[in-house]
Formats: sequence, structure tokens, C-alpha cells
Amino acid sequence: MIRNIKDRYYGNISLKKIKMKFKTNLLSRKMFGIISLALLFVSCNVKENKVLIIGIDGCRPDSFIKANTPSSDSLMKTGAYTFNAKTDEISSSGICWTGMLTGVWHDKHKVVTNSYKNPNIGEYPHFFRRVKQFNPELKTYSVIQWTAIHKILQEGDADVVKTFGNDDLVTDEVVRNLTNEDVDVIFVQLDDVDHAGHKYDYVPESENYIQAVEKADSQIGRMVNALKKRENYKNENWLVIVSTDHGGSNFGHGQNIPEHTTIFYIASGENATRGEITEQVNVVDVCITAMKHLGMEIKEEWSLDGKVVGLIN
Ligand SMILES: [Zn+2]
Repeated sequence: MIRNIKDRYYGNISLKKIKMKFKTNLLSRKMFGIISLALLFVSCNVKENKVLIIGIDGCRPDSFIKANTPSSDSLMKTGAYTFNAKTDEISSSGICWTGMLTGVWHDKHKVVTNSYKNPNIGEYPHFFRRVKQFNPELKTYSVIQWTAIHKILQEGDADVVKTFGNDDLVTDEVVRNLTNEDVDVIFVQLDDVDHAGHKYDYVPESENYIQAVEKADSQIGRMVNALKKRENYKNENWLVIVSTDHGGSNFGHGQNIPEHTTIFYIASGENATRGEITEQVNVVDVCITAMKHLGMEIKEEWSLDGKVVGLIN
């Protein structure tokens, strides 16, 4: 009898436990469902970070300010900028573009003339290489006019490498790429402004030079419009950086004087800070800011010279 009661007692307990277990299971399944939905919601709302860098060769900041540049102005309104940034003291194209794309000055990247003799790309590669090491799935594009820039690219750094004879053709290709392709990082170099500087001088009083700057701005407009019309644009978070490799005076550049070494820098997009940047910005900051926006950790061991500028956080 006692045994029976015990059995029944324990039997009841067991039944209770089973009921409780069932309830707990139901609850945890419900919780799991809610958490999964929340994660799905969050992941749907996490945008893909992407970067467009547009470099206008030989675009002197005071002439850029004088020119009518509505496309760049609207990028500035949604971003951070400075007209007092600095490029390499050897203000020739090869040295400065290499600084922009490796994140180090010429004493490290070793490009000291436009012939690009023995660049130190083993230690200081094009930042596309670091992007690929971070995530080989990210698609890297380099579309330019001045061919020499590509001398620092190594096998596998870029998915698309293209060179064109003028800036209209460069822009056409970039528009095509941004419209139809899965671009993550794209570097664009426009060269016609520098051609105008060598021919007509780089000063704000040079009307033909100013016209060339204005044309470059309209090309920037075409690229940014193409970017905004991307099929998946609402799920993407683009950082647009516009800068230059050097300024110029007396129909040339290359010296360590303010007219040649002062450059501008614009970083525009949701993740950019707003307004004028007060700290000193340098050409070597460009690729580091781009990498940071892509979610990369800038490693101490890379011993880069640049820093992140104009980004929130
Ligand atoms: Zn140049």
C-alpha cells in the first residue's frame, strides 16, 4: 500500500516533471524562434560597407575651391573635408599615389621617381592586398588613366585592373562597374586635370585649368549617381573618398613647397563625420580610412604611417 502511494507520489512527480520539461521545451523553442527572428532582422539591417576612392591627379585645393563643383560640394555636405591636407614631400605622381595606396611615405614604400624602380611592395603592398587577406571574397577594382599606378599591384590584389586614354572613358567604365557588378572597393584615378595644369598652370586664375577641374567634378557626379542607383544600394554603406596626389605651380610639380604638397581630402557617407577636419590629414591616411570602413583592424605590425580620418568611431 505504502509502496503504491509512493509509486503514485513519485509517479505524479514524474508527470509534473514531464509537463514542466514539455513547457520548458516549448518556451525555449519559442525563445529560439524569437532570437532567430531578431538575428535575421539585425542581419537584414546590417549594411555591406563599401568604398569608392576617386583621385583627381594634380588638383590644387585653392583652384578646387574656386571652381564650380556641385558634385563635390554635395559630398562635402554629407561628410568630412579639409583643404589643408599634405602629400609626400616629393610631390610627383608615382610617389604620392603610392603613398595613398600603401599608407606609408616614400622612405618605406621606396618609390622615389615615376619610374617605380624596386618598390617595397613586399613590406608595404597596395592596400588591396591587405583587403584580400582580410576577406578574399571582397571584389577590388582599379580603373585609371595613368598606367604607372598599377606597377605596385601584385598577382591577386585586384579583381579588375583597367586603364583608359582619357577621363571620360575611365568614368564610363566606373559607371558600368557600379551599375552592373558586385564591387566592394574601387579606386579611380582621373588624369586630365593634371594635363591641364601642365599646359595652362595650376593656379586659380588659370581658366582652362578651372574648366578641367569642373569637368572632373561632373565625372564625379556621374560616378556617385551610378552608385546611388545600384540595385542593392539601400543595403550598402558606401564611403566615398575624393582626394588628389599633389598640387602644382609654374606648369609643374615635384617640389617640397606648399603649392605642390597641399592637397584636399573629402570623406563622405553615412559613416563619415560632418564638417571640416581640424587635425592634420595626410595622403597616407586615405587607404587606412578605407580599410577601417571595410571593417578591418589596422594592425600595428604593418607599421603604416597613416591614420583613420573623418570616420565616426
Ligand atoms: Zn600626379
